[in-house]
Amino acid sequence: MTPTDPTAPAPGAGTDPSTAPEAVARAFEELYGSAPEGVWAAPGRVNLIGEYTDFNEGSVMPLALPHTVVAAVSRRTDGVLRLHSANAPDPAAALVELRTAELAPRSGGGWAAYPAGVLWALARAGHRAVLDGADVHLASTVPTGAGLSSSAALEVATALALDELYALGLDRPGLARLAQQAENAYVGVPCGVMDQMASACCVPGHALHLDCRDLSTRQVPFDLGAHGLRLLVVDTRVQHALGDGAYAERRAGCEQGARELGVSHLRDVPYDTLPDALARLGDERVRRYVRHVVSDEQRVAQVTALLGAGTPEALRAIGGVLTAGHHSLRYDLRVSCPELDLVVGVANAAGAHGARMTGGGFGGSALVLVEESAAPVVGDAVRAAFDRAGHRAPRIFDATPSAGARRLG
Ligand code: ADP
Ligand code: MG
Repeated sequence: MTPTDPTAPAPGAGTDPSTAPEAVARAFEELYGSAPEGVWAAPGRVNLIGEYTDFNEGSVMPLALPHTVVAAVSRRTDGVLRLHSANAPDPAAALVELRTAELAPRSGGGWAAYPAGVLWALARAGHRAVLDGADVHLASTVPTGAGLSSSAALEVATALALDELYALGLDRPGLARLAQQAENAYVGVPCGVMDQMASACCVPGHALHLDCRDLSTRQVPFDLGAHGLRLLVVDTRVQHALGDGAYAERRAGCEQGARELGVSHLRDVPYDTLPDALARLGDERVRRYVRHVVSDEQRVAQVTALLGAGTPEALRAIGGVLTAGHHSLRYDLRVSCPELDLVVGVANAAGAHGARMTGGGFGGSALVLVEESAAPVVGDAVRAAFDRAGHRAPRIFDATPSAGARRLG
C-alpha cells in the first residue's frame, strides 16, 4: 500500500470555511439581528516540552496551532451576556443568556462558564465596564478535550474581544492571567497559565519560551520545514476519566516535594543538585514527581539550546529529548496511558526522531518529530497499530507554529 500523507484526512486543520471571519460575522447577524462590532480569533496550542512544570513556576515551550476559536462580539448596555457556540457539546444548550450582575463562580453553566468566567474575572479585576454585557457568537476548529487547549482558546478569544471593545488596555500576559483566573476560580479547573499565555502570546514560526514564575517570554524561531522536518500531532481521541483527580494529586505531590526541600517551588531545585535532592526525600512517589519536574525543566533548556543552535543535527536531536520526556511522564509522573505509549513506541520504531505525550496526559495528544520524507510511513504505522489494538482511528495533523490571539475583522 502506498503510504498516505498523514495529514490528508485531518479534519478541522484551521481552514474550516465556517470559521472564516465573514462566515462567523454572518452567523452572528442571523442570530442576534445586527452585525458584530468585531471578530477575534485565539488558537489552541501544543506544548513542545516542559510538562507539569508550569505550576512549579518552571518553564514551558508551547506553540500555537492553526486551529482557532473565532468570536464575533458586540457590546450591550443592559447588563445581559448572551453566549452562543456553533460547537457547544450539547447543541440544545448552544445559546445561553446570563445577567452579568449575577455571575457567580462555580455556578455551572456548562461550556458557557468559560466565556462567562472571563467577563466575571475582568469585572472582579476592576474592569467594571464589561458588566454592561455583550453578545458573543463562537465557532471553532480546535478539537475539544484533545489536550490542545480549546478551553484556553475560548477564554482568550473572549478576553481579547472584551478588552478591545471596552478599551481596557490590558497587555497579553494580563489577559492570559485573567483567562486563567476564569478557568481556576469560575469554572473550577486548577490549570496553570501556560495554555492561556500560549494562546495570547504566540507568533507564527516560533515556539514560545515561557517562564511561568514571572511570565517573561521569548519567541524562539521554530522552522522545522526549512530543515526537512515535520512535527505531527497525533490526537488519540481518548480521554481517560482518571485525569482530573490525578492532576490535583501530582500538584499536591510537587508542593510536598518543594516543602521538604525547603524551596518555594520545584523550579528552585537546580538540575545538577537533583541526586542530592532526591536523596533527601523519603516518599518514593514524591521522589518520582520531583525527578520528573526538575529533569523536564532541564529538557526545556536542552530544546531551547538545540533550537538556538539551529543546525540540521541539532534540530533532529530534539527528538531524543522528546522521547526522554515521554519516559519521564510515563514512568516517573505516571500520567501517560496505553494509547499515548503506543503512539510513541510505534512512531519511534517506524523511524521518527522522537515522540512524547503532550498536555496533561491520560489521553489527548502526542507529538512526533519526523523527517518530512518519513512522515507518511510513520503516520500509517501509527494508524495501523491503533487499528490492530482496536482503538478509534487517531487524528493526525501538522503542528505548524501559528499566530496567537488577534483581531480578524
Ligand atoms: P481542552 O482545553 O484540552 O480542549 P478542556 O476540558 O479543558 O479540554 O476544555 C474543553 C471544554 O471547553 C469543552 O467541554 C467545552 O465545555 C469548552 N469548549 C471548548 N471549545 C468550545 C467551543 N468552541 N464551544 C463551546 N464550548 C467549548
Ligand atoms: Mg483546557
